[in-house]
Amino acid sequence: MTDITGTATGATSAPAAPPRRHEHWINGAAVPPAGGAYFPTRSPATREPGDEIAAGTAADVELAVAAASAAWPAWAARPAAERADVLHAVADAMAAGAAELTELERATTGKTDGQLKLEIDMSVAYFRYYAGVLRALHGRTIDLGAGAHAYTRLEPYGVIGAITPWNLPLNQASRALAPALAVGNAVVAKPSEFTSTSTVRLARLATEAGLPDGLLNVVTGTGPEVGGPLAAHPLVRKVAFTGSVLTGRHLAGVAGDRLIPVTLELGGKSPVVVFADADLDRAAAAAAGAIQANSGQVCSATTRLLVEDSVHDEVVARVVERLERLRPGVDFGPIITEAQFDKVLAAFAQAARDGLTPLTGGAAYDDGPGAAGQYVRPTVYADVPPTHPLAREEVFGPVLVTRRFSDEADALAMANDSDYGLVASVWSGDVARGLRLAEGIQAGQVAVNGGPLTIETPFGGYKSSGYGREKGLEALHDYAQTKTISLSLG
Ligand code: ADP
Repeated sequence: MTDITGTATGATSAPAAPPRRHEHWINGAAVPPAGGAYFPTRSPATREPGDEIAAGTAADVELAVAAASAAWPAWAARPAAERADVLHAVADAMAAGAAELTELERATTGKTDGQLKLEIDMSVAYFRYYAGVLRALHGRTIDLGAGAHAYTRLEPYGVIGAITPWNLPLNQASRALAPALAVGNAVVAKPSEFTSTSTVRLARLATEAGLPDGLLNVVTGTGPEVGGPLAAHPLVRKVAFTGSVLTGRHLAGVAGDRLIPVTLELGGKSPVVVFADADLDRAAAAAAGAIQANSGQVCSATTRLLVEDSVHDEVVARVVERLERLRPGVDFGPIITEAQFDKVLAAFAQAARDGLTPLTGGAAYDDGPGAAGQYVRPTVYADVPPTHPLAREEVFGPVLVTRRFSDEADALAMANDSDYGLVASVWSGDVARGLRLAEGIQAGQVAVNGGPLTIETPFGGYKSSGYGREKGLEALHDYAQTKTISLSLG
């Protein structure tokens, strides 16, 4: 038996040692599940069983929410500078614990070294960024004429429920937790049941770094068993959700009934628009990179490649050439859950039935280094009809579809021909045209000629991609509510 730190607590190191168990983290301590049950996890890179995690229930949620509810008023009352110091210490602890966080993340996601480093660094950066900007977050004074003025205060909601997915586990958790804590809230986090361990470890590191007990609680378990009771709990005053449209719609209903705000970061079918006058090599590299990064399991992946007719075949050939050089396990990771792996393969089967033939990929690996895990070949389908599910629905795998356009108006119409509107990428040698497109595209973020999108840049969806904003100063405002206090001297 081992405890949450992985330290042997009793039995010898026999080969048949039971799996490590990860408890909830509630009120600054590891807490076993009230129901006594644990889930197995499984490596998508090898399909071998891994650690076990606590199977939470409403009773565990109750404990965590009570702890959060007791903790936040004192935290919110502390000067911003003190909260900032604590969040900097959390970032330091995460950086010092990066190897441990990386190993936990690797075990449940099978990601490559490069992808893991990117995500752990980014997770640390969320805490540093919000620790920094928190000190510059102020209300304002409103002059109301002689002898009267009002001022605004940004106040926390109290308890935030943060429900996160399996694609970028620690990164998605940090993106919500850092700004929520910064403005004085407490959080109960519910990570995906497939990839919970790094979020639990983050909470432990935060406690050890000096974050007061009860401010960051993690309850692990399934959506219905833990996420449901969390969103419905009367003391949870806001929900931050990242995940599927289906669950997002359900949680929006729950939040609507309860009249609490919810941030929804959902899916995407984002376009990359390439004009003939663009730097075609950079554009092709970016299009291939979007499929490679996390094997396309990113809601903001640009998965619709729209290319000006005269250079369509050339750009697509360059993308295919790049993708065919990638090696499973080295350059890209597996599909993280078995259900998602099956979904991607089902999309290929459907495409085949509909007479679509991929230029490359379109299958899992049945031999070689990718065969032991849930690896899918990077895939490109050219000239996919705009009504086909491959062109409309999020596959959440390494699958790119292409279309050709004739002119700027055509490109804009195609880019906006989607139920989603999360991000877009535009490539053109004519920057004015790039900006015209960027302003016309219905999406929360548009990069022109590879413009970087970072923690500083607000992120969130238009249309079915959700609402509310993460990242940037906007996230701080999304986790706070404005109070106006008006005073008359007369
Ligand atoms: P995916 O299908 O990609 O796993 P989900 O939207 O189902 O995406 O999952 C995202 C997160 O939402 C996970 O933490 C999951 O456990 C949680 N979740 C799923 N269903 C519910 C639900 N009914 N209520 C609250 N949370 C849920």
